[in-house]
Order: sequence, then structure tokens, then C-alpha cells
Amino acid sequence: MAAIATDAPSRREDRLLNVLGRAGRFRVRGGEQWLFAAGAALVVAGLVCIIVAWVGTSRTVLVAGQIPYLVSGGLIGLGLVFLGGFLYFGHWLAVLVKDGRARAETDREDLTLLRESIEELTVAIRGGINSTPAAAIAEESRSSSGTLVATASGTMMHRPNCAAVAGKSAVRPVTVEDGLKACGICRPLAYETMLR
Ligand SMILES: [Zn+2]
Repeated sequence: MAAIATDAPSRREDRLLNVLGRAGRFRVRGGEQWLFAAGAALVVAGLVCIIVAWVGTSRTVLVAGQIPYLVSGGLIGLGLVFLGGFLYFGHWLAVLVKDGRARAETDREDLTLLRESIEELTVAIRGGINSTPAAAIAEESRSSSGTLVATASGTMMHRPNCAAVAGKSAVRPVTVEDGLKACGICRPLAYETMLR
């Protein structure tokens, strides 16, 4: 008891499932074959009993002599045939149950795959919504394209949001035609080229 209690619950469950799974598989597979063999044997034995009874009764003229054959051969034979039929029916049911279980297993696997795909899709869609769409970036670029700037004494042109001009009050608006050098940080020419 103490040894079991010290085990991690998940490991214990794993072992239990493993044992149950093995037992279940063995029972179904063994039961099926046993039912099929026993059913077939009983049907054959029953038919043999009926034939023996028929041969026995046909050899005896006396009705009193026919009764033992009829009872022990005919009725027992009939009973065996019925019993064999039931066992064969049981075998058929066992096969159906096993097929159903196998199908349920594959269905569960398919559902798991489907759920994983849906989760991946959801993550992808959510990422697409959160990231800035390309159209918004283009719009932002267009709205600020006319206002390239430079510092009062600077020889470089920048985008207005460039880190090199951030916080500087004496910025003047410039255009590409002013012939200033393009800043290496904000690359305003790449920006202009992109817009054309
Ligand atoms: Zn710059």
C-alpha cells in the first residue's frame, strides 16, 4: 500500500491502462477463436448425434427401442446444434465488437489530428490579425513620404521618425531633390523607391 501510494499517479494510471489494454485484447482475441472452434465442434457433434439416432431408429422396428435413440441421439444432437449456433453467434458478436473498437480508435486518432490542425489554424489566424497588415504599412509610408527631414545644419535626410532626428527641435523639411545624403539608419531613399 505504501509502495503504491509513493508512485506518481500518472505512472500508476499508465500501468493500469497498459495491463487493462493487454487483458482486454487477450480476452477478445482468445474468446473469439474459442467461441468459433467450440461452436463449430458442437454443431458437428450435434449433427453426428442426429445421424446416429436416425440410423439407430431406422434399424429398430419397435417404437420402444426407437425412443432411447430419439432422446439421447436426436434431442441431444438438436441441443448441441443450437448451442453451437449460439456460440457461433457469440463469435460473430465478438468480431463486431472488436471492429467497432478498432473503428472508434481510428476515429479518435482522426479527431485528435483534426483538433490539432484547428488549433494550428487558430494560432495562425490570431497571429495574422495581431501583426500589422501590409496595406497599413504602405498607407503609413504614403502619409509621411512628403515630409523627409534634416537637422538645421545636417547633410543627411531622414524619415521623420528616425532615431537620429528624434528629440531635435530644429528639423527642416527636405525633399529628395535637395541632394542630401540618405541616412544609413532610416534609409529614406529605400523608402522613396519603395513608394514609386
Ligand atoms: Zn535617419
